[in-house]
Amino acid sequence: FRERLAELKGAKSETKDGFEVELVANIGTPKDVDGVIRNDGEGVGLYRTEFLYMDRDDLPTEDEQFEAYKEVAERLEGKPVVIRTLDIGGDKDLPYLELPEEMNPFLGYRAIRLCLDRTDIFKTQLRALLRASAYGNIKIMFPMISSIEELRQAKAILEEVKEELRSENVKFNEEIEVGMMIEIPAAAIMSDVFAKEVDFFSIGTNDLLQYTTAVDRGNRQISYLYNQFHPALLRLVKQVIDNGHKAGIWVGMCGEVAGDPKLIPILIGMGLDEFSMSPISILKARWIINNLSREEMKEMAEKVINLPTAEEVKKFIEENIKIEF
Ligand code: PEP
Ligand code: MG
Repeated sequence: FRERLAELKGAKSETKDGFEVELVANIGTPKDVDGVIRNDGEGVGLYRTEFLYMDRDDLPTEDEQFEAYKEVAERLEGKPVVIRTLDIGGDKDLPYLELPEEMNPFLGYRAIRLCLDRTDIFKTQLRALLRASAYGNIKIMFPMISSIEELRQAKAILEEVKEELRSENVKFNEEIEVGMMIEIPAAAIMSDVFAKEVDFFSIGTNDLLQYTTAVDRGNRQISYLYNQFHPALLRLVKQVIDNGHKAGIWVGMCGEVAGDPKLIPILIGMGLDEFSMSPISILKARWIINNLSREEMKEMAEKVINLPTAEEVKKFIEENIKIEF
């Protein structure tokens, strides 16, 4: 089967009835680009930049960041590279920042909240990202957005940084796309409003499921409740895709669900445009998509979101969507 998958390198990621999607990769470091290329990823849908900041004693400089982003953009030769701004806090600590101890770290001072407070850190990263955008197809993505105010503030800071670079005659891509993660229920619910202010959405199902069901994604004792087939998650995903499309923007997904063989058909049915996953999952996802009919999956997706339990969703998919491997 591995050999048959290898034959899919260079093939299109489209359904039997000609619906084409993008299969891209989640990466954490420039080294991971090897795997993206080996598995014929069509770009990067999520570059988790926090790893640049971890396992060291101080913040990475603008130049260090610039080099890392530039390397990824160049090696992908014009393919899209979605770079997420710093998403630290929650379960990811940076000892040298001396972040406060919190009762609920996942609900606390993290990601965009920290960046909007520590604009020195945020601006340095944005400068590096913009400078690197002159060397490839970089898109900027903000994590953990929960309100329009936060999005507007982040965009305003980005504009300030652009202005700074212009005045220094530093080149960057003036048309750079700016998107946001949809990983907080408030953002999913308000996605019709957000869609008017960004170029794309990427749904982060890992956190969206955690916050929608109030189930800590890392707590083993309640992991039986952390179920990606939960119809509440699927309904939110459908709503976000529809709202994005109504406003004319593309909608991707970079949480674990995007690479889940059982849920890919449902996402195809919902019209998801971009699937971002671990590089090793890409060719299998292409195989699945090549064997589906978008029209049939549309009906399946409609049925699935009307089922009452995660168990029934999973069973329905297993019984009704058969893919030969
Ligand atoms: C997510 O929340 O789904 C996501 C992709 O981000 P992370 O897993 O880095 O929180
Ligand atoms: Mg997340």
